[in-house]
Amino acid sequence: MQFHKYDVVIVGAGGAGMRAAIESGQRARTAVLTKLYPTRSHTGAAQGGMCAALANVEEDNWEWHTFDTIKGGDYLVDQDAAEIMAKEAIDAVLDLEKMGLPFNRTPEGKIDQRRFGGHTRDHGKAAVRRACYAADRTGHMILQTLYQNCVKYGTEFFNEFYVLDLVTTPDEDGNPVASGVVAYELATGELHVFQAKSIVFATGGAGKIFKTTSNAHTLTGDGLGIIFRKGLPLEDMEFFQFHPTGLAGLGILISEAVRGEGGILRNASGERFMERYAPTIKDLAPRDIVARSMVQEVLQGRGCGPNKDYVVLDVTHIPEETLNAKLPDIMEFSRTYLGVDPVKEPVPVFPTCHYVMGGIPTNIHGEALRDNENVIPGLYAAGEVACVSVHGSNRLGTNSLLDINVFGRRAGIAAAEYALAHEHVELPADPTKLVEEQLAGLLSEHGDERVADIRKEMQQTMDSHASVYRTEDTLKQALTDVQALKERYQRITVSDKGKRYNTDLLEAVELGFLLELAEVLVVGALARKESRGGHAREDYPTRDDTNFMRHTMAYKQGAGLSSDIRLDYKPVTFTRYEPMERKY
Ligand SMILES: Cc1cc2nc3c(=O)[nH]c(=O)nc-3n(C[C@H](O)[C@H](O)[C@H](O)COP(=O)(O)OP(=O)(O)OC[C@H]3O[C@@H](n4cnc5c(N)ncnc54)[C@H](O)[C@@H]3O)c2cc1C
Repeated sequence: MQFHKYDVVIVGAGGAGMRAAIESGQRARTAVLTKLYPTRSHTGAAQGGMCAALANVEEDNWEWHTFDTIKGGDYLVDQDAAEIMAKEAIDAVLDLEKMGLPFNRTPEGKIDQRRFGGHTRDHGKAAVRRACYAADRTGHMILQTLYQNCVKYGTEFFNEFYVLDLVTTPDEDGNPVASGVVAYELATGELHVFQAKSIVFATGGAGKIFKTTSNAHTLTGDGLGIIFRKGLPLEDMEFFQFHPTGLAGLGILISEAVRGEGGILRNASGERFMERYAPTIKDLAPRDIVARSMVQEVLQGRGCGPNKDYVVLDVTHIPEETLNAKLPDIMEFSRTYLGVDPVKEPVPVFPTCHYVMGGIPTNIHGEALRDNENVIPGLYAAGEVACVSVHGSNRLGTNSLLDINVFGRRAGIAAAEYALAHEHVELPADPTKLVEEQLAGLLSEHGDERVADIRKEMQQTMDSHASVYRTEDTLKQALTDVQALKERYQRITVSDKGKRYNTDLLEAVELGFLLELAEVLVVGALARKESRGGHAREDYPTRDDTNFMRHTMAYKQGAGLSSDIRLDYKPVTFTRYEPMERKY
């Protein structure tokens, strides 16, 4: 076991982790631990854009952006946080520009902006151009820019280090204080303990719970799973976003920027069906609405293809030069993976799991909460793993690249300032005990279940029973299936027993996190007997503000793979926006 001591440890080198590192690294001794090489993080796959009311191409302001975010999130958004995000968006974009990010430009040389779902002028009057972009490689540019700046500031990276546990030390009242993390080094199989005064979790999402997903193989919710196993809460985990335009049958993402640039969704008879569901902004309605509309078209027999099980995204009316200049990767994905040339024919699409709105509850400084009010001293979270909550029950496109920059920065500053004002907390006697037991358990011979089989069955049941539409019956089926899979998980065999690059072992660990998070999702969804944002219950089709205008807080009871989950609720923070009917 190797031991390290830092002021600040950041777990994750995606956009949120590296934005935090840039701030923290200039103030305090900081290490970044990441299971992937930094520039392989999923932020690099983001395509369409990052929004800010720069008003570079038409009238706009941060108050409209705040309103859109709150309405887009179906009023489950904490309004103080949304206001901060929309206000700080402007500097967040300019900061990236100053760091060297090559945004697309207007002919006058300003940062260009494009339309995106749910972003409107003057409280819903029409779609507005708010998304800053670098072709359809915005996330790639952000990630490279942040990485280069981390290198410039001499950030210490520990690449291919899998954090498997958070170490906490009880204070005099027995409440947890963050004191370190335990990491597994992929190259050697060695365990490392990092003691730190503050720890920032920025481990990204958990889209691999589902079979059809736009998420990378590595988005297995590790940070969420680690926190949950400590008996600490996860907020609003029933809210997953299904992005309308995944390549049909594959789930690979076709950015909303395609519709932002004028792409149109059509059903089998060529009808622009979004005109019926969202008469004002049509194809640019928020994602939850578009995804449900697409599923409705298919359910009502208006789907395309031999099985009538998808709709199409039509860009054949857009000049080829525009498509090649503004959406080059998207053109390529469609040609490569479906053999469809978007210039000549519409692209088959269907909703794909894309984003988790829920996560580790934090306040606006990125401090993680242990209940509705109290923070866990020294622990911070930012990015997709966190729930501030700026996205409520449905995130607007381009608000995540924004979130990771705004709240990554805030968490980095807060973590460094905390570290400068505090001493290291003593680590408990045996910080690696839990991880050692867990790994030894997985490596011992105790059954013939295989990781790949259990993962496949989990993803299948979640796709069938807990995706765009849900009912009591489907959710109960998902719960029964996931609990049976958890039981089988205890009998898995990891065939590679080696120390070096044992990805088999780590996939088994990751599957354990996914199973627990699938269960949290389903338990929260069963209890939420209403439809709101990304959570649509066919048996409770309307929003119920009287009973459910509140955040879900899920706590794990009991140890090991216990399925005992306690749900509590947290009030939504309102500033000035009264919940309204959500029409577009
Ligand atoms: C295909 C696609 C396109 C998207 N397009 C857009 C878009 O145009 N606009 C927009 O706003 N949003 C978009 N999003 C969403 C957005 O990209 C993500 O929500 C955001 O980038 C997440 O950033 P993050 O820093 O929180 O996590 P990530 O970028 O996923 O980084 C997570 C980091 O955590 C590390 N990590 C994870 N587990 C561990 C562990 N156990 N130990 C150590 N390290 C760990 C990983 O190595 C990685 O460095 C898109 C998402 C996808 C999937």
